[in-house]
Amino acid sequence: MIPAGFEYHRPADIASALSLLQTHGDEARVIAGGHSLIPMMKLRMADLSHLIDLQDIDGLKGITIAEDIVSIGAMTTQNELITNDELSRRIPILREAALLIADPQVRYVGTVGGNVANGDPGNDMPGLMQCLGAVYTLEGPDGSRAVAARDFYEAAYFTAREDEEILTQITIPVPSMSGYAYEKQKRKIGDYATAAAAVMVGGGNASVAMTNLSDTPIYSAEASDALAKGDVDGCVAAALDAIDPQEDMRGPIAFKKHVAEVILRRAIAKAQERAA
Ligand code: FAD
Repeated sequence: MIPAGFEYHRPADIASALSLLQTHGDEARVIAGGHSLIPMMKLRMADLSHLIDLQDIDGLKGITIAEDIVSIGAMTTQNELITNDELSRRIPILREAALLIADPQVRYVGTVGGNVANGDPGNDMPGLMQCLGAVYTLEGPDGSRAVAARDFYEAAYFTAREDEEILTQITIPVPSMSGYAYEKQKRKIGDYATAAAAVMVGGGNASVAMTNLSDTPIYSAEASDALAKGDVDGCVAAALDAIDPQEDMRGPIAFKKHVAEVILRRAIAKAQERAA
C-alpha cells in the first residue's frame, strides 16, 4: 500500500517546526527517519495531512560527551550510536542494544529520538533509556521541560509528550556500574523483540528494564534493588511480576513469560561477568 496524500514541510529550525505543529494541530506529525511512521501511514493506521520533516534542523543532531553526562540529539541515527567509539567506551550498552535493532538499512535512517518518542512497546531504546536513567528534553510553545524516561511511557503509543511538543534531546548520566548487557530474543533478523532485557550492575547498584512484555517498557525498582543485593532469583521474580505480556503472533502469554525469564537471566549473568 501507499500512504494517503499529505503536505510535506521541511523547516530549518525548531521554532518553525513548533509553529507548523500549532498551525495544523491533529492533522500534523513530525517525521524523523520515517521507519515507524511511514509503515503506519501505509497501513492506514496513521492518517495525516501534514508531515513536518526534522532533517534540516541542525540543532537536533549530534552526540556530546562530557565527564558525567552524555547528550544525544533526537535526530542522531541508530547507526551513529554504533559508530561513535567514545560513546561505546563510556556507555557500551547503547551500542550493544542498537546493533540488535532491525538491520543496517533501518539503522542508517532510524533516529534515537523517533525510537524513544514513538511509544511502540516493541521499540528497543525506551526500556534501555529507563535502565540508564535517561531524561528527555521536550520543546513546546511554552518553552522546554525535562521528563525522565521512567515517567514518559503511559500506554502503547501514549506518552507524556504533548501533541505540540518536539523531543529534542536525550540526556544520559554516564553509569558508575561497569557491568552491562542488552539481551533480545526475536523470531528472525530484523524482527522486534519477543522479549528483551537491559541490565546494569556493579558497585552495589543495579538497574533492570524489560521490553515488549507490556504496553509500555518496564523498569522495575524492586528487581533492580534485589539485583543490587546479589539476589538474582528475587530480581527475576520481581521483574516477571511487573510485566504483563499479551498473546499475539509472537506467542501465548506463558511462552512470553518463559522467554522473559530466560532472556533476563542471560542478561544478568553477562552483566555480572562484565562487572567482575
Ligand atoms: P519516525 O518513524 O519518523 O517517527 C516515529 C514516531 O515518533 C512518529 O509518530 C513521529 O511523529 C514521532 N517522532 C519522531 N521524532 C520525534 C521527535 N524528535 N519528537 C517528537 N516526536 C517524534 N525498532 C526497534 O526498536 N527495534 C527493532 O527491532 C526494530 N525493527 C524494525 C524493523 C523494520 C523492518 C522497520 C522498518 C523498523 C524497525 N524498527 C525497530 C523501528 C525503527 O527503529 C524506527 O526507525 C524507529 O522506531 C523510529 O525512528 P524514526 O526516526 O524512523 O521515527
